[in-house]
Amino acid sequence: MRPGLFWLGRMRKFHIGIAGCGPAGLSAALFLHRSGHRVTLVDQLDAPQPIGSGLVLQPTGVAVLAALGLEKEIRALGVEIEAMLGRAYPSRRRVLDVRYDWARPGRHGLAVHRAAIFNVLFDAIAREGIEIITSATVSGVREETDRRPRLETAEGALVGPFDFVVDALGSRSNLRQQVWPRHKMRDLPFGALWASLETNGGEAVAGFSGSTLEQVYHRSNKMVGVLPIGKITPTSSSYTAFFYSLKQDDFAAWQAGGLDVWKETALTLWPDLQKLLSLIAEPEQLVFARYGHHTLMTPHKGRVVSIGDAAHATSPQLGQGVNMALLDAYALGQAFGAAAEPEQAFKAYARARRFHLRFYQAASHFFTPVYQSDSRLLPFMRDWLFAPATKLPLVPKFLGHIAGGTFVPPGINLP
Ligand SMILES: Cc1cc2nc3c(=O)[nH]c(=O)nc-3n(C[C@H](O)[C@H](O)[C@H](O)COP(=O)(O)OP(=O)(O)OC[C@H]3O[C@@H](n4cnc5c(N)ncnc54)[C@H](O)[C@@H]3O)c2cc1C
Repeated sequence: MRPGLFWLGRMRKFHIGIAGCGPAGLSAALFLHRSGHRVTLVDQLDAPQPIGSGLVLQPTGVAVLAALGLEKEIRALGVEIEAMLGRAYPSRRRVLDVRYDWARPGRHGLAVHRAAIFNVLFDAIAREGIEIITSATVSGVREETDRRPRLETAEGALVGPFDFVVDALGSRSNLRQQVWPRHKMRDLPFGALWASLETNGGEAVAGFSGSTLEQVYHRSNKMVGVLPIGKITPTSSSYTAFFYSLKQDDFAAWQAGGLDVWKETALTLWPDLQKLLSLIAEPEQLVFARYGHHTLMTPHKGRVVSIGDAAHATSPQLGQGVNMALLDAYALGQAFGAAAEPEQAFKAYARARRFHLRFYQAASHFFTPVYQSDSRLLPFMRDWLFAPATKLPLVPKFLGHIAGGTFVPPGINLP
């Protein structure tokens, strides 16, 4: 009898190596561990920790955390976001107004500090005793004669063997570069400076709503945004995320120019930023995030399966990245609940994610230059065609679904 037939209909238990302790790796570890598999997480950091500022968990992302039993924990830290609003400079015309409840009454996003989502997932990993190997920089994957993959590390160790490996190393994954050598990520011309500012409950940011993502644009080449993101732990202060769009090529000039010159430009665009900018005293408080765009059309090869930003990344314009990573982890977990062989599960995972993923990657590809480019035509169309069109019948509902990550055809079930 072929081994595949022997196992048909029965759940095999695998030893799974997950490279990367970001939202994708941590949530996949929880789903797979709870299905009875043995999981080993591997990360380069000495003590796994979050990188970056704040983000919006869309209803999809919150639903995945709810499926993991972690909704209460994340809601206790995050801030409910009702709308995304944008004004053009210098006219101050409202050119973006997208509300979550246009899709369904009562719906909202949940803005969180990156550390909050990390802490909630990581605490669950620790509670469930999932093995983590830290200070291990994954440099590749190697199969020996037993055809079981091991993770190679830059420190000279071989971790494994595993039945299969999950690549959750993020957008610049070097596992992907080894397994899919011809696949390339396209660097986007614009990135952004990000800061998480301690705003102690919001008093320091008078003039801003506590429940909206607000942005100001000058054409498409300048953009400033403010997002309340809540707490890191139940007893910590509250934070506000601040971002300022910047071309990758202009980062060195920004560093050389000094904070005061840059603050003046930002204040010209948006005078209400005065108090918030006073919280930035050192350039080191701002982290420059570089964006790239890529999509692996088939996110598995041999004994390696790719999830999260390792499989697909884009600019954060539509705010879907973490949510996509969580949905990938959910789909992979579901696929392993039903399949007997890794290859079957990989295919089921890829099928489950195909439409949603391709739609949002395409939408992000289209919308990114509308908000981050040197084009003069695109911001003109945004302000004078797109903004009025949002008032047409059915368009608000459609936009509410796009923002919430729930734009899927009938028959596709999101958690
Ligand atoms: C500035 C910014 C703002 C964003 N805003 C939003 C938003 O509002 N909403 C949203 O949903 N998404 C947003 N995103 C996107 C989101 O952050 C990513 O989509 C998400 O973090 C992807 O999760 P991941 O687990 O796949 O990868 P990552 O979060 O990148 O995690 C990768 C992990 O792998 C580890 N690692 C990497 N290389 C190695 C190696 N060689 N060896 C060992 N370990 C390694 C890293 O230490 C890390 O722990 C934003 C992204 C950026 C940069």
